[in-house]
Amino acid sequence: VFRNKLAFFAAAKVSSSFPSPDLPEIAFAGRSNVGKSSLLNSLTRQWGVARTSDKPGLTQTINFFNLGSKLCLVDLPGYGFAYAKEEVKESWEELVKEYVTTREGLKRVCLLIDTKWGMKARDHELVELMERSKTKYQIVLTKTDLAFPVDVARRATQIEESLKTKKSALQPLMMVSSKTGAGIRSLRTVLSNISRF
Ligand code: GDP
Repeated sequence: VFRNKLAFFAAAKVSSSFPSPDLPEIAFAGRSNVGKSSLLNSLTRQWGVARTSDKPGLTQTINFFNLGSKLCLVDLPGYGFAYAKEEVKESWEELVKEYVTTREGLKRVCLLIDTKWGMKARDHELVELMERSKTKYQIVLTKTDLAFPVDVARRATQIEESLKTKKSALQPLMMVSSKTGAGIRSLRTVLSNISRF
């Protein structure tokens, strides 16, 4: 599936402008700087050309990408961006919340967590929302190349433990490095199974 052509087709600032949910959808969420753009680039090898804005934390729209008419990949704005004005921050966090809790066709949310930092308050908040709305989500540990393997394993265990009682969390979590490419193929395989064919 990830060999298919990627095409940007919609950007939404309000839920009324979400495109109709015609394809199975996979969304990518996480704090700003978690490595989301790098991961999307590694997964699709085409992200650079598809992206509309390259300024981290300033992408305040939810961006929808069509992958060969088999999958819709959705780039959610990163949260926890320090420089944004409070009211701006709130409006797009509300949009993310609305998206993950109400979106039809949403098959999975990949919740990206930086291996070094682990899960923070905002991440837990999103987890609770997805639990309540029964949205399936999968933790993806990013930047594993920056930690010793023993620390990556420890982080993974810690997060899996904390999500053990959660019903919508898909286990095991995935571990990736966009820098070395580690884990990218496995993640592609897992996500490809969600596609229409
Ligand atoms: P985003 O804000 O979540 O889209 O994050 P970016 O993809 O822009 O990455 C933020 C920073 O982390 C950039 O400086 C990247 O080069 C770096 N980065 C992203 N992924 C990795 C990775 O797997 N390994 C390393 N070492 N650095 C990474």
